[in-house]
Amino acid sequence: LEERINNLEIKNKNKYASVKYLAEKDRKRILITGGAGFVGSHLTDSLLLAGHEVTVVDNFFTGRKSNIEHWIGHENFELINHDVVEPLYIEVDQIYHLASPASPPHYMYNPIKTIKTNTIGTLNMLGLAKRVRARLLLASTSEVYGDPEMHPQPESYWGHVNPIGPRACYDEGKRVAETMCYAYARQERVEVRVARIFNTYGPRMQMADGRVVSNFILQALQNESLTVYGDGEQTRSFQYISDLVNGLIKLMNGNISQPVNIGNPEEHSINHFAKIIKEQTNSSSKIVYMDGQEDDPQRRRPDIERAEKELGWKPEVPLIVGLRNTIDYFRKELLRSDSTKDL
Ligand code: NAD
Ligand code: UDP
Ligand code: UDP
Repeated sequence: LEERINNLEIKNKNKYASVKYLAEKDRKRILITGGAGFVGSHLTDSLLLAGHEVTVVDNFFTGRKSNIEHWIGHENFELINHDVVEPLYIEVDQIYHLASPASPPHYMYNPIKTIKTNTIGTLNMLGLAKRVRARLLLASTSEVYGDPEMHPQPESYWGHVNPIGPRACYDEGKRVAETMCYAYARQERVEVRVARIFNTYGPRMQMADGRVVSNFILQALQNESLTVYGDGEQTRSFQYISDLVNGLIKLMNGNISQPVNIGNPEEHSINHFAKIIKEQTNSSSKIVYMDGQEDDPQRRRPDIERAEKELGWKPEVPLIVGLRNTIDYFRKELLRSDSTKDL
């Protein structure tokens, strides 16, 4: 047993060897709500590796412990199982507020809970930011633009959202979350940052989250038909996770309090995207057409001039490179789930 413990300690030491040392004056106490999710766990990795202290708060609705388990035991890391709809009293310097289901099937699963998380949850985090004088970054979304009549979408566009449709719990929830940020900024002098995140993909996306990237990759790897909703001529612009994480950190530490689009402007129709996935997986899957989805935005592409000018940020990872990493991840996850099926 002693030998096993020693081996484990050596393994952990090696694992943490790349954590940068930061002097106490530069080291921040950072809260990440939704830190066990896809985006939050990558952000956790970056901030811990940079030498900061990170507290992850998550209720594990869509997040997974396995996304962050490699940090459990590290002195700069803390994990709190908590729902942001309930108040939270801790002491921090910065808050990345990401807690919210993000994929349409997840946020539509319990629309009332989605609304509570985005409204009451955001209010609580702003109340916390006000009390401890922390800066808060809200993970908002391109969905605030709804089904846009303006293309590409600049931050000045007010959006075209159906307030009573099936996506409204999320879209309107994020819109009011943004409103709350600016109310706290004006009235209580809370420092806020608002990232309008466009479709993001990468390792640790949930396999069964129903988004187009995960659906198509899984279908292609299993030689099942790729399911295109509607005529497939609707477009999306896909950003790789490491680009998003860099953008979020730059935004948090920069001087711009206005909303900023963080996304990759390279736009593809869903039909074209299906072809790319088939090629990249060498799959012989067919493409099948299903009913279109209600209120599905027809075109989406970020105007990222503000991020480029004000933050010096632009996406760097080409789609093919990001997709290769993501496909590798899904391959491994599939093998892992196959090998545990009979247990
Ligand atoms: P995700 O579902 O993987 O992560 C969300 C995390 O929030 C999960 O760990 C979940 O358990 C947690 N959570 C949900 N409700 C909570 C609650 N009430 N209390 C505490 N924790 C809660 O999704 P993601 O893709 O990582 O998205 C993270 C954030 O980024 C979300 O706010 C989402 O709206 C935003 N966003 C993501 C994308 C994208 O393409 N991934 C695009 C636009 C915006
Ligand atoms: N809140 C919190 N943590 C804190 C401070 C406040 O969760 O450290 C919550 C609190 O429960 C309140 C919300 O944030 O409901 C808004 O706080 P604020 O101080 O703005 O409002 P008030 O408490 O005056 O209603
Ligand atoms: N979509 C699709 N097949 C799928 C999943 C999604 O054709 O299996 C389409 C969906 O209708 C939308 C686009 O792909 O037009 C992106 O959907 P996703 O759920 O990934 O994200 P959204 O941008 O809609 O939030």
